[in-house]
Amino acid sequence: MTESKKSVVIIGAGVAGSAAAVELSDNNFNVILLEARKSSGGRMNSYIDPVTGEHLDNGQHAMTGAYVSFLRLIRELGTHQLLYTQDALKVLFLDADGVRDMFDTSRLPGKAGTVLGMLSLKGISWSSKLKFLSFLAKLSSGKVLHEDITALEMLRRYKQPADIIIRFWEPLILAVMNIPADQASAALLIEVLNRAFFADAESSRMIFPKQTLGDLFGALPEYLKSRGSALKLNARVKKINIENERVRSLTINDGSEIVADYYISAIPPDQLLKLCSDHSEEFPFIEQLSEYKYSTIASIYLWYDNSITEDAFGAMLGTQTQWFFNRRALCNCDPSLSEKYPGHLALTISGAGDLNKIPNSELVKICDKELKRAFPNSSDAKLLHS
Ligand SMILES: Cc1cc2nc3c(=O)[nH]c(=O)nc-3n(C[C@H](O)[C@H](O)[C@H](O)COP(=O)(O)OP(=O)(O)OC[C@H]3O[C@@H](n4cnc5c(N)ncnc54)[C@H](O)[C@@H]3O)c2cc1C
Repeated sequence: MTESKKSVVIIGAGVAGSAAAVELSDNNFNVILLEARKSSGGRMNSYIDPVTGEHLDNGQHAMTGAYVSFLRLIRELGTHQLLYTQDALKVLFLDADGVRDMFDTSRLPGKAGTVLGMLSLKGISWSSKLKFLSFLAKLSSGKVLHEDITALEMLRRYKQPADIIIRFWEPLILAVMNIPADQASAALLIEVLNRAFFADAESSRMIFPKQTLGDLFGALPEYLKSRGSALKLNARVKKINIENERVRSLTINDGSEIVADYYISAIPPDQLLKLCSDHSEEFPFIEQLSEYKYSTIASIYLWYDNSITEDAFGAMLGTQTQWFFNRRALCNCDPSLSEKYPGHLALTISGAGDLNKIPNSELVKICDKELKRAFPNSSDAKLLHS
């Protein structure tokens, strides 16, 4: 006799909810994936720019080989060929006036590659490099103390000098944690370093979508359907109904109730809080949901009449702009678009704080100026659209 399938309802079809839905559908569960919006993807959603017709994402995304669940999801959906994967971690660091430094870990396998990459950086003094290596050794042996302190406090405790903090640690922390080093958790940073950057060559290499993130997830509805599961769009959960300390059902926007054997929330903490705030006395974790703080990320797309750089991407130092991504080098695109707009870049500013209060046009002017200083050969390029 075959056992009947258990049912699971997942709230939110962002990447977390989608990964859970695929994994459970593959493991003999009947899944209903509920999404409030008219399309899935959540913060990894995509759209078409109305002026240029360019297919864009809600901000340039970069991943690493350590995104194990994400990569498994993409392989399951059969869209992994739409990812560009580095052979080994290589990151260009660019000063405000264009001086270049390459962190290249490809010359030796594993940690030896990371060590050689650091030793080859020109902008960092030898004494700082040695302090970095001593920190790396302590990290490898699990001897780094990081309880309840910020990443900056930890780096200072392990004698990381100013040049290496400014030119290496701060850009890395902003990129992976979206918050400055003096606010980032040391424990989380250690987790990222151990799993990605200082793990093995495969985990540390960077990965970019060659098409939109929406293209990566396009096969999701069919995949779920073929396994007896379903993605329901325009289905906003309005209330989580709890009885006797257990979830009894969910009420959705059309007034209907959905009952399942199990329920998973894959929505951000503030949104989950709205759905179950009546029950904070029974469940202390509900109260804790209000303690999460959020950090702004700014994403800027620019189109030029000329190529700005041949580099695929890089970290910018001493500028408001933190990362540039050359979309003409990284992405497949319609040839007529690259002819009309040979220069097309995405810029990212993490931990952007109050930057969202300045007008977009001002921010674009700052970034345009910084790019032309960092890539002096492009000073004549005309900004056509942003
Ligand atoms: C500009 C930008 C750049 C980024 N760059 C990177 C990067 O380079 N690398 C990286 O790793 N990460 C990056 N991120 C972060 C990454 O996008 C998120 O961490 C990830 O998408 C979060 O996925 P999630 O599924 O947890 O949540 P979400 O994407 O927020 O998904 C939650 C889903 O739940 C739905 N929902 C909410 N409430 C309800 C409800 N009541 N009923 C039903 N559905 C509901 C929402 O509509 C949404 O679709 C970036 C984010 C942004 C905004």
